[in-house]
Amino acid sequence: EIKFEHVKKSYGDTEVVKDLNFTIKEGERLILLGPSGCGKSTILRMIAGLEDITAGNLFMNGQKVNDIPSGKRNVSMVFQNYALYPHMTVKQNIIYGLKVKKVDKEEIEKRLEFVLEMLQLKGYEDRLPKQLSGGQRQRVALARATVKRSDFFLLDEPLSNLDAQLRVSARKELKKIHEMLGQTIVYVTHDQIEAMTFADRIVLMYNGELQMIDTPENVYHRPANVFTAKFIGSPP
Ligand code: ATP
Ligand code: MG
Repeated sequence: EIKFEHVKKSYGDTEVVKDLNFTIKEGERLILLGPSGCGKSTILRMIAGLEDITAGNLFMNGQKVNDIPSGKRNVSMVFQNYALYPHMTVKQNIIYGLKVKKVDKEEIEKRLEFVLEMLQLKGYEDRLPKQLSGGQRQRVALARATVKRSDFFLLDEPLSNLDAQLRVSARKELKKIHEMLGQTIVYVTHDQIEAMTFADRIVLMYNGELQMIDTPENVYHRPANVFTAKFIGSPP
């Protein structure tokens, strides 16, 4: 469970996240949706403990996020810019976190095989990130986060660089992994269709403010305000 209590974030005088109050349930697939600049990545980075919280409290399983030592955070994140290690091969990038966690060799190989297959990265194991296309890099980032099997899985536009077909299949694979592992997923996108097909619940943000939190069905058919109706394209 992830709980926001009057959470605010400012950079200098600019408040980019305004008084957030909501709870992400354990095992839920929550989509953070909203236009560019509305605060999605900032919220994800706060959950990951990578940003100071200006005011309020953010709890992860009852513990304040900023009090959890970085080594103890049971979180995997896929960054919007991938953040791959440039000097490591695809394989090294993917398994690095497992080696740090001292997962045994056989288990590492097993998870690696599984994820290479799933994300169609077979044959690319020994390449460096700079020798990959954007979509391939994005899949490596996704693979690296997936193999860790953390309880909290934070994804920042993880499929934005994939073509339509790959995106659909990656989404299906993500759903399968979720059914297998039952992690809590917080998934950032600005794509309504993606949100509708993937979410248990959607948080719609605009200008740092939460506009609506509800199931895709309710967000679509019972929008809470004009912004929501317009953004989602609800029937009039
Ligand atoms: P996008 O869809 O384009 O990725 P986003 O919803 O993820 O957008 P954020 O990256 O969370 O948006 O940024 C929210 C706001 O905070 C933006 O107006 C951005 O300019 C501002 N911002 C983000 N990081 C900083 C920073 N380090 N210093 C100052 N302002 C920042
Ligand atoms: Mg962003």
